[in-house]
Amino acid sequence: MLTAEFKPWHVPLFLAKYAYLTVTRRPILVHFEVTTRCNARCGFCDYWKTDPSAKASEVASFADAARFFNPMLITFTGGEPTLRRDLEELVAAVHAAVNLKYITLLTHGGMLTPERARSLWKAGINQFNISLDYLDSRHDVARGIPGLSAKIMSTVPRMREIGITGIRFNTVIKRDNLDQLLPIVDRARELGCGVNFSCYTDAKNGNRDGLIDRDSTENLEAVVAELLAFKRKRRGIITNSDYYLEQIPRYVRGEISEPCRSGMRTIHLDPTGHVKRCPDFPPDFHWTDFRKYEPINCNACYYACRGEAQAPLRISRIRDVMASPV
Ligand code: SF4
Ligand code: SF4
Repeated sequence: MLTAEFKPWHVPLFLAKYAYLTVTRRPILVHFEVTTRCNARCGFCDYWKTDPSAKASEVASFADAARFFNPMLITFTGGEPTLRRDLEELVAAVHAAVNLKYITLLTHGGMLTPERARSLWKAGINQFNISLDYLDSRHDVARGIPGLSAKIMSTVPRMREIGITGIRFNTVIKRDNLDQLLPIVDRARELGCGVNFSCYTDAKNGNRDGLIDRDSTENLEAVVAELLAFKRKRRGIITNSDYYLEQIPRYVRGEISEPCRSGMRTIHLDPTGHVKRCPDFPPDFHWTDFRKYEPINCNACYYACRGEAQAPLRISRIRDVMASPV
Protein backbone atom coordinates (compact mmCIF):
# COMPACT_ATOMS: atom_id res chain seq x y z
CA MET A 1 0.00 0.00 0.00
CA LEU A 2 2.94 2.33 0.57
CA THR A 3 4.16 3.70 -2.75
CA ALA A 4 7.46 2.93 -4.47
CA GLU A 5 9.38 5.78 -2.83
CA PHE A 6 9.01 3.98 0.51
CA LYS A 7 11.22 1.02 1.37
CA PRO A 8 10.47 -1.94 3.67
CA TRP A 9 12.60 -0.34 6.39
CA HIS A 10 10.12 2.55 6.52
CA VAL A 11 7.44 0.19 7.86
CA PRO A 12 8.89 -0.19 11.40
CA LEU A 13 9.41 3.59 11.52
CA PHE A 14 5.77 4.17 10.60
CA LEU A 15 4.71 1.56 13.17
CA ALA A 16 6.78 3.37 15.82
CA LYS A 17 5.18 6.70 14.93
CA TYR A 18 1.74 5.04 14.98
CA ALA A 19 2.48 3.68 18.47
CA TYR A 20 3.70 7.09 19.69
CA LEU A 21 0.62 8.91 18.37
CA THR A 22 -1.66 6.24 19.84
CA VAL A 23 -0.05 6.36 23.29
CA THR A 24 -0.11 10.16 23.36
CA ARG A 25 -3.71 10.19 22.00
CA ARG A 26 -2.77 12.42 19.07
CA PRO A 27 -4.52 12.15 15.67
CA ILE A 28 -2.85 9.74 13.28
CA LEU A 29 -4.59 11.20 10.23
CA VAL A 30 -5.22 14.89 9.61
CA HIS A 31 -7.43 15.96 6.72
CA PHE A 32 -6.78 19.43 5.36
CA GLU A 33 -10.00 20.58 3.74
CA VAL A 34 -8.40 23.28 1.60
CA THR A 35 -11.66 24.56 0.14
CA THR A 36 -15.36 23.76 0.32
CA ARG A 37 -15.83 25.02 -3.23
CA CYS A 38 -16.48 22.34 -5.82
CA ASN A 39 -17.47 22.23 -9.48
CA ALA A 40 -19.16 18.82 -9.30
CA ARG A 41 -22.90 18.46 -8.60
CA CYS A 42 -23.20 15.44 -6.34
CA GLY A 43 -26.70 14.86 -5.00
CA PHE A 44 -25.45 13.63 -1.62
CA CYS A 45 -23.20 16.60 -0.80
CA ASP A 46 -23.88 20.33 -0.73
CA TYR A 47 -20.30 21.59 -0.91
CA TRP A 48 -20.79 22.61 -4.54
CA LYS A 49 -23.34 25.18 -3.31
CA THR A 50 -20.59 27.05 -1.44
CA ASP A 51 -20.56 30.72 -2.38
CA PRO A 52 -17.46 31.55 -4.46
CA SER A 53 -16.74 34.39 -2.02
CA ALA A 54 -15.67 31.72 0.52
CA LYS A 55 -12.37 31.66 -1.35
CA ALA A 56 -11.36 34.85 0.46
CA SER A 57 -11.34 33.13 3.86
CA GLU A 58 -9.31 30.07 2.83
CA VAL A 59 -6.00 30.01 4.69
CA ALA A 60 -2.79 30.41 2.69
CA SER A 61 -0.88 27.66 4.52
CA PHE A 62 -1.53 24.58 6.66
CA ALA A 63 2.15 24.10 7.45
CA ASP A 64 2.03 25.36 11.06
CA ALA A 65 -0.96 23.13 11.80
CA ALA A 66 0.80 20.18 10.18
CA ARG A 67 3.90 20.83 12.33
CA PHE A 68 1.75 21.05 15.45
CA PHE A 69 -0.13 17.78 14.87
CA ASN A 70 2.86 15.98 13.29
CA PRO A 71 0.58 13.20 11.99
CA MET A 72 1.57 10.04 10.18
CA LEU A 73 -1.07 10.38 7.48
CA ILE A 74 -2.17 13.61 5.80
CA THR A 75 -4.99 14.09 3.30
CA PHE A 76 -5.64 17.13 1.16
CA THR A 77 -9.34 17.21 0.46
CA GLY A 78 -12.24 19.56 -0.17
CA GLY A 79 -14.58 20.47 -1.79
CA GLU A 80 -12.44 19.98 -4.83
CA PRO A 81 -8.82 20.72 -3.84
CA THR A 82 -7.55 21.06 -7.42
CA LEU A 83 -9.63 24.25 -7.68
CA ARG A 84 -6.91 25.88 -5.59
CA ARG A 85 -4.23 27.15 -7.94
CA ASP A 86 -1.82 27.29 -4.99
CA LEU A 87 -2.37 23.63 -4.09
CA GLU A 88 1.24 22.75 -4.95
CA GLU A 89 2.49 25.41 -2.49
CA LEU A 90 0.12 24.15 0.21
CA VAL A 91 1.34 20.59 -0.30
CA ALA A 92 5.03 21.50 -0.45
CA ALA A 93 4.85 23.50 2.77
CA VAL A 94 3.13 20.67 4.66
CA HIS A 95 5.56 18.16 3.14
CA ALA A 96 8.49 20.20 4.48
CA ALA A 97 6.88 20.63 7.91
CA VAL A 98 6.39 16.95 8.83
CA ASN A 99 8.87 14.09 8.89
CA LEU A 100 7.74 10.53 8.21
CA LYS A 101 4.31 11.00 6.72
CA TYR A 102 2.23 9.78 3.81
CA ILE A 103 0.30 12.43 1.89
CA THR A 104 -2.85 11.73 -0.08
CA LEU A 105 -4.90 13.97 -2.36
CA LEU A 106 -8.62 13.30 -2.66
CA THR A 107 -10.13 14.56 -5.92
CA HIS A 108 -13.08 13.93 -8.23
CA GLY A 109 -10.49 13.86 -11.02
CA GLY A 110 -12.45 16.08 -13.40
CA MET A 111 -9.62 18.61 -13.71
CA LEU A 112 -6.70 16.28 -13.06
CA THR A 113 -4.31 16.14 -16.00
CA PRO A 114 -1.07 14.12 -16.02
CA GLU A 115 0.81 17.44 -15.93
CA ARG A 116 -1.05 18.66 -12.82
CA ALA A 117 -0.62 15.27 -11.22
CA ARG A 118 3.13 15.40 -11.90
CA SER A 119 3.50 18.85 -10.32
CA LEU A 120 1.48 17.78 -7.26
CA TRP A 121 3.51 14.60 -7.00
CA LYS A 122 6.72 16.64 -7.10
CA ALA A 123 5.28 18.90 -4.39
CA GLY A 124 4.89 15.88 -2.09
CA ILE A 125 1.67 14.00 -2.85
CA ASN A 126 2.32 10.28 -2.41
CA GLN A 127 -1.12 9.05 -3.39
CA PHE A 128 -3.96 10.30 -5.58
CA ASN A 129 -7.40 9.08 -4.47
CA ILE A 130 -9.85 9.59 -7.32
CA SER A 131 -13.56 9.19 -6.63
CA LEU A 132 -15.10 6.46 -8.78
CA ASP A 133 -18.46 4.91 -7.91
CA TYR A 134 -19.34 3.42 -11.32
CA LEU A 135 -17.29 2.51 -14.38
CA ASP A 136 -19.94 3.76 -16.79
CA SER A 137 -21.79 7.02 -17.40
CA ARG A 138 -23.76 6.62 -14.16
CA HIS A 139 -20.67 8.13 -12.55
CA ASP A 140 -20.89 11.22 -14.76
CA VAL A 141 -24.57 11.66 -13.88
CA ALA A 142 -24.03 11.11 -10.14
CA ARG A 143 -21.19 13.66 -10.04
CA GLY A 144 -22.72 16.06 -12.55
CA ILE A 145 -19.59 16.12 -14.72
CA PRO A 146 -20.14 14.92 -18.32
CA GLY A 147 -17.49 12.44 -19.51
CA LEU A 148 -15.96 12.07 -16.04
CA SER A 149 -15.49 8.29 -15.91
CA ALA A 150 -13.94 8.28 -19.41
CA LYS A 151 -11.61 11.11 -18.42
CA ILE A 152 -10.49 9.25 -15.30
CA MET A 153 -9.87 6.10 -17.35
CA SER A 154 -7.71 8.02 -19.82
CA THR A 155 -5.81 10.05 -17.21
CA VAL A 156 -4.83 7.19 -14.89
CA PRO A 157 -2.76 5.22 -17.47
CA ARG A 158 -0.97 8.44 -18.42
CA MET A 159 -0.20 9.10 -14.76
CA ARG A 160 1.16 5.55 -14.49
CA GLU A 161 3.30 6.15 -17.61
CA ILE A 162 5.04 9.11 -15.99
CA GLY A 163 5.87 6.96 -12.96
CA ILE A 164 3.13 7.85 -10.48
CA THR A 165 2.60 4.65 -8.51
CA GLY A 166 0.22 5.88 -5.81
CA ILE A 167 -3.24 5.92 -7.38
CA ARG A 168 -6.40 4.68 -5.68
CA PHE A 169 -10.05 4.81 -6.56
CA ASN A 170 -12.29 6.01 -3.72
CA THR A 171 -15.52 4.12 -4.14
CA VAL A 172 -18.64 4.80 -2.10
CA ILE A 173 -20.68 1.64 -1.57
CA LYS A 174 -24.30 2.55 -2.18
CA ARG A 175 -27.65 1.09 -3.07
CA ASP A 176 -27.23 1.05 -6.84
CA ASN A 177 -23.55 0.26 -7.37
CA LEU A 178 -23.15 -3.14 -5.69
CA ASP A 179 -22.75 -4.59 -9.20
CA GLN A 180 -19.81 -2.23 -9.79
CA LEU A 181 -17.57 -3.03 -6.82
CA LEU A 182 -15.83 -6.12 -8.21
CA PRO A 183 -15.54 -4.64 -11.73
CA ILE A 184 -13.92 -1.51 -10.24
CA VAL A 185 -11.45 -3.72 -8.33
CA ASP A 186 -10.67 -5.60 -11.56
CA ARG A 187 -10.15 -2.36 -13.47
CA ALA A 188 -7.90 -1.06 -10.70
CA ARG A 189 -5.83 -4.26 -10.90
CA GLU A 190 -5.45 -3.85 -14.68
CA LEU A 191 -4.36 -0.22 -14.22
CA GLY A 192 -1.96 -0.92 -11.33
CA CYS A 193 -4.10 1.06 -8.86
CA GLY A 194 -5.82 0.39 -5.57
CA VAL A 195 -9.42 0.82 -4.38
CA ASN A 196 -10.60 2.23 -1.08
CA PHE A 197 -14.24 1.60 -0.22
CA SER A 198 -16.42 3.65 2.09
CA CYS A 199 -20.07 3.25 2.99
CA TYR A 200 -22.71 5.74 1.77
CA THR A 201 -24.32 7.99 4.37
CA ASP A 202 -27.13 10.50 4.26
CA ALA A 203 -25.35 12.52 6.97
CA LYS A 204 -24.07 15.12 4.50
CA ASN A 205 -27.37 16.55 3.32
CA GLY A 206 -30.12 14.06 4.18
CA ASN A 207 -30.23 12.47 0.70
CA ARG A 208 -31.30 8.86 1.35
CA ASP A 209 -31.17 7.70 -2.30
CA GLY A 210 -27.90 5.82 -1.89
CA LEU A 211 -28.65 4.20 1.47
CA ILE A 212 -28.54 0.41 1.38
CA ASP A 213 -31.76 -0.79 2.98
CA ARG A 214 -31.94 -3.88 5.12
CA ASP A 215 -33.74 -5.77 2.31
CA SER A 216 -30.52 -5.58 0.26
CA THR A 217 -28.32 -6.94 3.03
CA GLU A 218 -28.01 -10.37 1.41
CA ASN A 219 -26.69 -8.81 -1.80
CA LEU A 220 -24.31 -6.68 0.22
CA GLU A 221 -23.05 -9.66 2.21
CA ALA A 222 -22.40 -11.61 -0.98
CA VAL A 223 -20.43 -8.73 -2.53
CA VAL A 224 -18.43 -8.14 0.67
CA ALA A 225 -17.61 -11.88 0.79
CA GLU A 226 -16.31 -11.60 -2.78
CA LEU A 227 -14.19 -8.56 -1.87
CA LEU A 228 -12.70 -10.41 1.11
CA ALA A 229 -12.02 -13.49 -1.06
CA PHE A 230 -10.28 -11.21 -3.57
CA LYS A 231 -8.15 -9.76 -0.76
CA ARG A 232 -7.14 -13.20 0.45
CA LYS A 233 -5.85 -14.06 -3.03
CA ARG A 234 -4.31 -10.68 -3.87
CA ARG A 235 -3.45 -8.04 -1.29
CA GLY A 236 -2.49 -4.45 -2.12
CA ILE A 237 -5.42 -3.57 -4.40
CA ILE A 238 -8.30 -3.26 -1.95
CA THR A 239 -6.81 -0.98 0.68
CA ASN A 240 -9.50 -1.28 3.38
CA SER A 241 -8.79 -3.55 6.31
CA ASP A 242 -10.56 -6.91 6.34
CA TYR A 243 -12.17 -5.72 9.57
CA TYR A 244 -13.80 -2.69 7.96
CA LEU A 245 -15.27 -4.70 5.10
CA GLU A 246 -16.57 -7.33 7.54
CA GLN A 247 -18.37 -4.67 9.58
CA ILE A 248 -20.27 -3.00 6.69
CA PRO A 249 -23.17 -5.54 6.61
CA ARG A 250 -23.35 -5.34 10.41
CA TYR A 251 -23.71 -1.56 10.16
CA VAL A 252 -26.46 -1.82 7.54
CA ARG A 253 -28.29 -4.37 9.72
CA GLY A 254 -28.16 -1.85 12.58
CA GLU A 255 -25.86 -4.00 14.72
CA ILE A 256 -23.13 -1.42 15.32
CA SER A 257 -23.76 0.88 18.21
CA GLU A 258 -20.36 1.45 19.79
CA PRO A 259 -19.41 5.12 20.18
CA CYS A 260 -17.63 6.76 17.25
CA ARG A 261 -13.98 7.55 17.83
CA SER A 262 -13.73 10.15 15.05
CA GLY A 263 -11.71 13.10 16.25
CA MET A 264 -9.48 10.83 18.30
CA ARG A 265 -7.60 9.07 15.48
CA THR A 266 -8.58 11.40 12.63
CA ILE A 267 -9.47 15.09 12.48
CA HIS A 268 -10.48 17.54 9.79
CA LEU A 269 -9.29 21.12 9.46
CA ASP A 270 -11.70 23.28 7.50
CA PRO A 271 -10.49 25.91 5.01
CA THR A 272 -10.22 28.51 7.77
CA GLY A 273 -8.09 26.28 10.03
CA HIS A 274 -10.89 25.23 12.40
CA VAL A 275 -11.04 21.66 13.63
CA LYS A 276 -13.95 19.26 13.08
CA ARG A 277 -14.13 15.78 14.55
CA CYS A 278 -15.33 14.41 11.19
CA PRO A 279 -16.29 15.76 7.76
CA ASP A 280 -19.95 16.09 8.65
CA PHE A 281 -19.73 17.82 12.02
CA PRO A 282 -19.39 21.58 12.49
CA PRO A 283 -16.05 23.04 13.58
CA ASP A 284 -15.32 23.11 17.32
CA PHE A 285 -12.26 25.36 17.68
CA HIS A 286 -9.31 26.76 15.78
CA TRP A 287 -6.38 24.35 15.59
CA THR A 288 -4.33 26.65 17.83
CA ASP A 289 -6.93 25.98 20.58
CA PHE A 290 -6.98 22.21 19.92
CA ARG A 291 -8.46 20.02 22.66
CA LYS A 292 -8.50 16.25 22.50
CA TYR A 293 -11.78 14.64 21.51
CA GLU A 294 -13.60 11.93 23.41
CA PRO A 295 -15.76 9.19 21.79
CA ILE A 296 -19.22 10.32 20.78
CA ASN A 297 -22.54 8.46 20.64
CA CYS A 298 -23.18 9.06 16.95
CA ASN A 299 -24.08 6.33 14.50
CA ALA A 300 -24.88 8.53 11.49
CA CYS A 301 -22.31 6.95 9.19
CA TYR A 302 -19.94 4.08 8.72
CA TYR A 303 -17.31 5.92 6.73
CA ALA A 304 -14.02 4.11 6.28
CA CYS A 305 -12.38 6.70 8.54
CA ARG A 306 -14.75 5.70 11.35
CA GLY A 307 -14.50 1.95 10.79
CA GLU A 308 -10.75 1.88 10.20
CA ALA A 309 -10.16 3.81 13.43
CA GLN A 310 -11.80 0.89 15.25
CA ALA A 311 -9.94 -1.80 13.32
CA PRO A 312 -7.56 -3.92 15.40
CA LEU A 313 -3.96 -4.14 14.17
CA ARG A 314 -4.15 -7.67 12.75
CA ILE A 315 -1.39 -9.43 10.77
CA SER A 316 -3.62 -9.05 7.68
CA ARG A 317 -3.43 -5.27 8.13
CA ILE A 318 0.37 -5.30 8.15
CA ARG A 319 0.29 -7.50 5.02
CA ASP A 320 -2.04 -4.92 3.43
CA VAL A 321 0.44 -2.14 4.18
CA MET A 322 3.38 -4.14 2.79
CA ALA A 323 1.54 -5.21 -0.38
CA SER A 324 1.70 -3.27 -3.65
CA PRO A 325 -0.99 -2.98 -6.32
CA VAL A 326 1.63 -3.48 -9.07
S1 SF4 B 1 -18.83 14.82 -2.83
FE1 SF4 B 1 -16.88 15.71 -3.43
S2 SF4 B 1 -17.06 15.96 -5.63
FE2 SF4 B 1 -19.15 15.74 -4.86
S3 SF4 B 1 -19.91 17.88 -4.48
FE3 SF4 B 1 -19.05 17.09 -2.57
S4 SF4 B 1 -16.92 17.80 -2.56
FE4 SF4 B 1 -17.67 17.94 -4.68
S1 SF4 C 1 -20.58 8.37 13.14
FE1 SF4 C 1 -18.69 9.48 13.61
S2 SF4 C 1 -17.76 9.95 11.61
FE2 SF4 C 1 -19.93 9.42 11.26
S3 SF4 C 1 -21.06 11.37 11.29
FE3 SF4 C 1 -21.13 10.54 13.39
S4 SF4 C 1 -19.36 11.47 14.44
FE4 SF4 C 1 -19.04 11.73 12.21
